[in-house]
Amino acid sequence: MMFGRVLCLFNRHRPRRDKVTWDGFNYHSECAHCGKRIYRRQGGGWRAVRVLLIEGEGTQGR
Ligand SMILES: [Zn+2]
Repeated sequence: MMFGRVLCLFNRHRPRRDKVTWDGFNYHSECAHCGKRIYRRQGGGWRAVRVLLIEGEGTQGR
């Protein structure tokens, strides 16, 4: 759906409900439109996970 893709350009993504996981801090999922890894902000709304954050998880000891 084109409208959803436009929102992705503004970093507003829609989660795939069957992909939602909880890591103890945030909900993570995969965008239903663009397939990016996304997380849910505490204020609401899903944002793409930055690659630097993903790589940083491995360097913080856990
Ligand atoms: Zn998206």
